Amino acid sequence: MLAASASLLNIDVVVLDVGEHTPAKQVVAPRAPHLAHIDGSFADSVKIRKLASKVDVLTVEIEHVDVTVLEEVESKVPLGVHPSPFTIKTIQDKYVQKQHLRASGCPVSDFLQVESTVAAIHSAAERLGLPLMLKSRTLAYDGRGNFVIRDLKQAQEAITALGNRPLYAEKWVPFVKEIAVMVVRSRSGEVISYPVVETVHKENICHLVFVPLRSRDPTIAARARSVAENAVKTLQGAGVFGVEMFLMADGTVYLNEIAPRPHNSGHYTIEACETSQYENHLRAILDLPLGSPALKVPSACMLNILGASSSMDEIKEFARFSLTVPGARTHLYGKADCRKGRKMGHITLVANSDAELSTRLRPLLEHLPGGHD
Ligand code: ADP
Ligand code: MG
Repeated sequence: MLAASASLLNIDVVVLDVGEHTPAKQVVAPRAPHLAHIDGSFADSVKIRKLASKVDVLTVEIEHVDVTVLEEVESKVPLGVHPSPFTIKTIQDKYVQKQHLRASGCPVSDFLQVESTVAAIHSAAERLGLPLMLKSRTLAYDGRGNFVIRDLKQAQEAITALGNRPLYAEKWVPFVKEIAVMVVRSRSGEVISYPVVETVHKENICHLVFVPLRSRDPTIAARARSVAENAVKTLQGAGVFGVEMFLMADGTVYLNEIAPRPHNSGHYTIEACETSQYENHLRAILDLPLGSPALKVPSACMLNILGASSSMDEIKEFARFSLTVPGARTHLYGKADCRKGRKMGHITLVANSDAELSTRLRPLLEHLPGGHD
């Protein structure tokens, strides 16, 4: 999606990824031999150096990258690495990220580091209570890396499930809604934010995103945007950031985590906003004027197309059905294999009212691969 957006502005993109025909490489064909894509891992230092030698600005779409190499190449890339390696390093270790946010005065729930032992988990539960959210500090996504301890008997099971990785524990947040805001940070540190969305997760994976936020209290959206903007101001470097938050029954907003990149909760911006998160990411890192993040439709939602099994046919069938729904725009990612829970694409739905949106969404939910509950 970033590559598609870049092509509209005549911005050449060189992609580093494993495989010759991975999704982003399908979107942009190199315009000259020196712009050829690179086949390799974003954790491979040699390949990152090669990418750095070819580009004017280097950006990432995943935070689990080799930051040491990014730091090394930062001064060699004319327009630098964005967001900054400092930001990526802070965010990629969730415990370090939480420490940074707490030290910067952002509203995060209580948390502490725990060793991977039953005794340490018991003492964390004594301090933070049950249920206890145990999280892997690194390499976590889509809930893979989290374990909810409801009973202390689960301590050993949790350590095993999280693969003996370095852990930390968070106090349980009894939220009423999960919300998110995309924030754009310019090279000079100016921030602008997109509307507040509600994210609905199923089995820890983002399932639906609704915008604008439906709430009786209009101050909630303003407060959430200000929490998100203030958090991104504490980081360094340009780009878009996805800020995930928890909304409590009394209207309090807690910060959950920040993604230093375009985010699933911002996919809707392609069809529903004046400027998409992808275009604004490019504008930010290239020092171009930022675009308006305003909504241009009264109501929108995004539905992830998740694999139900290894069957690609189910995905194709659902995508075909989605073409019959007014206001729906279908995005398929061109991934080679389908797996249960894998993000294979998404649909953005726009409507003139929340009621119309619900009417349009219902048949899509009914036809989802694997059924809907
Ligand atoms: P991921 O990297 O998988 O997105 P998160 O830390 O965002 O990891 O956790 C995934 C989901 O787990 C969240 O979207 C939320 O539903 C739930 N969650 C995370 N932290 C807490 C918490 N402290 N209390 C209650 N639920 C939580
Ligand atoms: Mg998350």
